[in-house]
Amino acid sequence: MSAQIIDGNAIAKSLRQEIAQEVEQWSAQGRRLPGLAVLLVGNDPASEVYVRGKRRDCDEVGFHSIVQHLSANVTQQDLEARIASLNSDPTIDGILVQTPLPAHIDEARIIDSISPEKDVDGFHAYNIGLLALRRPAMRSCTPKGVMLLLEHVGCTFKGQDAAIIGASNHVGRPMGLELLLAGATVTMAHKFTQDIQSKVKHADIVISAVGRPDLVPAQWIKPGAVVIDVGITRGPNNKLLGDVQFEAVKQVASWITPVPGGVGPMTRIALLQNTLQAAKATMGLS
Ligand code: NAD
Repeated sequence: MSAQIIDGNAIAKSLRQEIAQEVEQWSAQGRRLPGLAVLLVGNDPASEVYVRGKRRDCDEVGFHSIVQHLSANVTQQDLEARIASLNSDPTIDGILVQTPLPAHIDEARIIDSISPEKDVDGFHAYNIGLLALRRPAMRSCTPKGVMLLLEHVGCTFKGQDAAIIGASNHVGRPMGLELLLAGATVTMAHKFTQDIQSKVKHADIVISAVGRPDLVPAQWIKPGAVVIDVGITRGPNNKLLGDVQFEAVKQVASWITPVPGGVGPMTRIALLQNTLQAAKATMGLS
């Protein structure tokens, strides 16, 4: 058996076209465009690449977007003041603070200072809390993007076993809440988990979000499982590496995402969808 490859780029392209069409209709009706503000602190090359990609996506679908590129020495107070100003800016529907932030910045306080309605990354405690209470509002982008992929390949979730490897605030934990909400039975593994294979071996859906190349071998995978690789690590020559042993796991799984071209483009789509959702809410259209 050889798994079918889930082409995140192709799925994202068609969803971007849908968003662009909706925005075009808005413009034709004389409405203001959805607006995204990105705050980028310092000169981390990977962050700069991600922000350029987000800007390009916004241009492609017709959103208004701004990027504030700040020095690595920016103070907590200055960053919070900028967020306060964007919170009250009527042309901005979504605010995203690109991570990682320099060590002197308290990231949790920065996320707390974003208005939950404009928290298009879905990282705010209020939005994570709503998801935990089965009332999702602004959903975290990577887990939302993964759910879009799983729905695309026909996952039914109810009665299925899902295993997530990695339990971070930004990816693993909200991923678990998404799958639980969809009706799956969820097991979460992390760096303290003993014998991960025994936790993953029976899962119909396996999601790895660790950032450790080749962590997931074929022996861990139940034949026919859907395998989603969220991990991204830069290897030699800047090559992007996932967590999953792709070639071997492909022989066992029914569906598998590549790295790159799997989850990454869907994370970006979720950001566009969240920004559109925030704009609709502001304009009373949702
Ligand atoms: P993180 O470092 O915050 O969390 C990593 C998690 O993995 C932790 O919960 C930790 O307990 C767990 N872990 C560490 N070593 C482990 C091991 N040996 N076995 C099992 N679990 C282990 O990272 P993150 O922000 O959650 O990101 C995870 C990965 O996903 C990274 O590679 C990141 O670059 C990638 N990522 C990709 C996208 C995308 O759009 N494709 C988006 C966000 C993150």
